[in-house]
Amino acid sequence: MALVRESIDFFDDFQKRVDLGLRHQGYLFVASSEEGARAQVALVEAQRSWGLTDVELLDGREARQRFPYLGKNVVNARYRQGDGWLEPRRLALELARASGSRFRLGETVTGFERDDDGMVVGVITDRGKIRGGEVVIAAGPLSGPLAMLAGLELPLTTVRRQKLVIPDLPQVPPDAPMTIEFETGAHWRPAGSGAHALWTAPAPAEPPVEEVPTSADFAFGLLDPSSDHALARIVPFWKDVWSSSQLRWWLQAGQYTYTPDRRPLLGPTEIPGLAVNTGYSGHGIMGSIGGSRRALDAIYGRLKPADNPFRPDRPMQSRDFDIL
Ligand SMILES: Cc1cc2nc3c(=O)[nH]c(=O)nc-3n(C[C@H](O)[C@H](O)[C@H](O)COP(=O)(O)OP(=O)(O)OC[C@H]3O[C@@H](n4cnc5c(N)ncnc54)[C@H](O)[C@@H]3O)c2cc1C
Repeated sequence: MALVRESIDFFDDFQKRVDLGLRHQGYLFVASSEEGARAQVALVEAQRSWGLTDVELLDGREARQRFPYLGKNVVNARYRQGDGWLEPRRLALELARASGSRFRLGETVTGFERDDDGMVVGVITDRGKIRGGEVVIAAGPLSGPLAMLAGLELPLTTVRRQKLVIPDLPQVPPDAPMTIEFETGAHWRPAGSGAHALWTAPAPAEPPVEEVPTSADFAFGLLDPSSDHALARIVPFWKDVWSSSQLRWWLQAGQYTYTPDRRPLLGPTEIPGLAVNTGYSGHGIMGSIGGSRRALDAIYGRLKPADNPFRPDRPMQSRDFDIL
């Protein structure tokens, strides 16, 4: 939460100067079973104890009043208006522009340069060498193989995640929040004049790759009303979407880079001169600013290893669940 809060404060401020596509349209978690509803109540209590005091708990009737597209089977919902989304590509490009740094695009790091004492002092690329004061591995899913080139084993696994993009969808209210079924994790939000939809069920680890393949099963799992995680389970208009003859969609895929405790690896490693900023476990947009700031503080000695809960060599307790 600390990483995300710092990032959101930054996004809100940055958005005043450049358009990041930032929208605070809220996250709405909806339960369709009594058991799910009880778990949501417990979660809101826990969130309040963590200092997140602006999460509203709505019963089914209140939820349908506020969000009329919800189905009759909704038992309760928790809603936080302050949540939202932005366009990550714009964020990356605007951060790059604001940094004033020089970037070398389309150049692949293939190794590390070391001095006589074994300290990393630069990288070797497919086009030459680049020397640097401190080398930071921030290669997302490919961070693990890259670190291995320096003889460093990082505790990372990669898992494929897909996104369904539907460009035009008149049924979707443009001001709707991110709407998530608590029981299944299936969710959607307005995007342009259509929607993006995702599902993040446990999936097997796969080797890290640059080009991640998509699978049509993913789209049908969300769209087909008979699926056990269909979007139509709590939002009836998705049945109309499925039967529409106009429906156009495509898929995008990437990989989550998980650490065992689902928290990133930030700061210097055991190899002198080599640091990491990776392992965001699916939260690398919302945690990007707070995480990167800590990585830099750790590299420059402003954050001591003992005070850095994200230091790469920390003892980790395994956590098997996803938090959206
Ligand atoms: C479908 C999907 C949905 C997601 N939704 C969310 C969300 O809602 N909120 C959220 O916070 N996060 C979300 N994420 C996770 C988020 O996208 C990642 O956590 C984030 O992009 C990680 O950023 P990064 O900079 O660490 O890595 P990346 O964005 O992967 O960037 C790494 C870069 O390193 C480059 N690279 C790799 N190897 C080399 C090399 N050898 N030499 C040179 N360059 C190299 C790559 O080309 C890439 O450009 C989602 C991810 C997926 C796949």
